[in-house]
Amino acid sequence: MNNRFNAVKSAIDHKEIPVSKYPSRVSEYYGEDVFSHHIMRDYLPRDVFREIIESIDRPEPIDRKLADLIASAMKAWAISKGATHYTHWFQPLNGATAEKHDAFFTPDGPGSSIEQFDGTQLVQQEPDASSLPSGGLRNTFEARGYSAWDPSSPSFIIDRTLCIPTVFIAYTGEALDYKTPVIKSITVLDEIATEVCQMFDRNINKVFPTLGWEQEYFLVDKHFYYSRPDLTLCGRTLCGHTPARGQQMEDHYFGSIPQRVSAFMKDFEHAAWRLGIPVKTRHNEVAPNQFELAPVYEEANIAIDHNQLVMVVMEKVALKHDLRILFHEKPFAGVNGSGKHNNYSLATNTGKNLLSPGHTPKTNLLFLTFFINFIKAVSEYPGLLRAAIASAGNDHRLGANEAPPAIMSVFIGSQLTGILEEIEKKVKNRKMTADEKTELKLNIGKIPRIIFDNTDRNRTSPLAFTGNKFEFRAVGSSANCGPSMIVLNTILARQLRRFKQEVGEMMEGKVSKDEAILRILRKYIEKSRHILFEGNNYGEEWVKEAEKRGLPNIKKTPAALEEYKSGKTAELFIETGVLTKKELLARYDIRMEQYSKVIQIESRVLGDLAGNHIIPAAIKYQNILIENLRGLRETLPESLFKEHSSQQIHTITKISEHISAIKDSVAKMISARKEANVIEDPARKANTYSESVGPYLDFIRYHIDKLEILVDDQLWPLPKYREMLFIK
Ligand code: ADP
Ligand code: MG
Repeated sequence: MNNRFNAVKSAIDHKEIPVSKYPSRVSEYYGEDVFSHHIMRDYLPRDVFREIIESIDRPEPIDRKLADLIASAMKAWAISKGATHYTHWFQPLNGATAEKHDAFFTPDGPGSSIEQFDGTQLVQQEPDASSLPSGGLRNTFEARGYSAWDPSSPSFIIDRTLCIPTVFIAYTGEALDYKTPVIKSITVLDEIATEVCQMFDRNINKVFPTLGWEQEYFLVDKHFYYSRPDLTLCGRTLCGHTPARGQQMEDHYFGSIPQRVSAFMKDFEHAAWRLGIPVKTRHNEVAPNQFELAPVYEEANIAIDHNQLVMVVMEKVALKHDLRILFHEKPFAGVNGSGKHNNYSLATNTGKNLLSPGHTPKTNLLFLTFFINFIKAVSEYPGLLRAAIASAGNDHRLGANEAPPAIMSVFIGSQLTGILEEIEKKVKNRKMTADEKTELKLNIGKIPRIIFDNTDRNRTSPLAFTGNKFEFRAVGSSANCGPSMIVLNTILARQLRRFKQEVGEMMEGKVSKDEAILRILRKYIEKSRHILFEGNNYGEEWVKEAEKRGLPNIKKTPAALEEYKSGKTAELFIETGVLTKKELLARYDIRMEQYSKVIQIESRVLGDLAGNHIIPAAIKYQNILIENLRGLRETLPESLFKEHSSQQIHTITKISEHISAIKDSVAKMISARKEANVIEDPARKANTYSESVGPYLDFIRYHIDKLEILVDDQLWPLPKYREMLFIK
């Protein structure tokens, strides 16, 4: 029996893994494994605790004495929870999370030891992480990179190890991770957004971005995963014929969750809740075997950490259920791919959501200020947003008539479109009359009611306003939320700076504050109209329309990443201090390299699959047909043989054609790879992979999928879509 049937049998015979009984009151154990402020308060003297909370909010590093006190509290707590090790937990630029565990225990003489962990170990470490990507920022012979504690994100325990969220930076100070620029972008945004808020409300002294991500994923039985080299090594299927029944019946979305999956969800939700990750929603997604989870939104830095953490936890829990989780953006052709919807807004210390309309014209002017500045920011950097979400995996998804296209645009709904038009019409470059003002105020005052009635929610837009937040839907399901959040925070910060300056200048010309604000907003509306699109983003007409508007439509990652190298991008990040030019270029190189590696691995795996799995099976079947033909010739009279053999001969020939096409393409693909591999420059290499190697993946797949429907099912070596895609 070939691997495939073993896998099918094992998947069918799968024994239900009983769900552990958890208390139904989640609040009884929520955050149990987190060193939260709550716990810290229990473990520390009251004045020390207060000092710590205050210094966490300040940008300066925490004082050494305080750090010792926190470390000792952390150690006591962690050991009481059974932890034996601690680790700095960080997010290097390879997209995964990194950890290097050290035991608390330290020998302090022959045969004796103590548990040790102090402020120095908490605050800074020097992991020998020389093999993590640095984009040339760090030579391996001086492999020093530092991890430094991020006190704003709480430490937690996984697998009896205390994990301390940290940033990861080179010896020379450059960021080697996602978190460092995230924190910097949050800080600059806070500074300027607070200043802008103060024009309206003096009580606001802190603004922070909030992120609520929605995570889509696929599950497959682990037996299928391990009997398909493409799934094991690339996280996606490189071949496989679409099943006769896929998602066309539209019966999976929001359908009842399969037993087995539900058991998995309960287990990982329990784990997530213990870790203080506020996961709230779970449901089936559009494609078979596709699901989604979403938490309650949090401060962006913590939300990003939680998303990374949740992905790790889900992988672990899935394995316990004999499942493998696929975070790839397009694991199966012909059914929907997976994204990560990043819901983004801004919150204040006063508990206000700045993207939520208020109840008075005055608070609505504050809302409109942030709303319009956000749109203006996006209108200036559509290319950078596209670059932020670019990856080999996401290229399969963007523009594939199921996900937002590669063209960045903003949807705001017809009512808000109306409001913007109104402002454009009514606000004049002269002093408004009292009547004009009253009328405008009246209309602005109506916004909240209008929005709460608003049910139109364009699902095809990459960036949609959904009542009190923007939903950035183009992010890939496997991506770290960092890059897209860095861009949103930074472009908004830069835009708000311009806004404040322009309003200030106008006020110096003796224009009243409200009028100055309205006039500047009016100008922004006019200038960013081209980024607003309310229609169907999947349609061919939009592609044409976007081209007319001059909006970039960049299909492939290497081209999209060029935006990181543009003068405009450098200026943005340098002006705001979020990334230096060196850091930016390192990121550009790393992302190019990653792209090349993905295509390289996919191409190798597909070559092996074709040669070792597909062609041998096809030949075997072809030989059966040839044998049969020979038998027919011996048995049948000449005239009958002629009549009955033509279909057989046709199939034999077809198989030959596909085999030849595959063999020929694999050979060509290998030589294309050879040419690409000697290229040193990361961008040129990525482009060569994209243009010269990439197309063979589709071409070879086409012929393999044709063979799949020709060859005897009994001989086909790889689990088929119809077998993998319908978990019960
Ligand atoms: P839906 O969009 O499915 O109707 P919700 O509006 O409740 O559902 O929210 C969807 C996602 O948006 C959730 O992950 C939620 O946490 C997030 N979200 C809601 N409000 C905000 C906000 N102010 N900032 C960031 N994310 C938010
Ligand atoms: Mg959504």
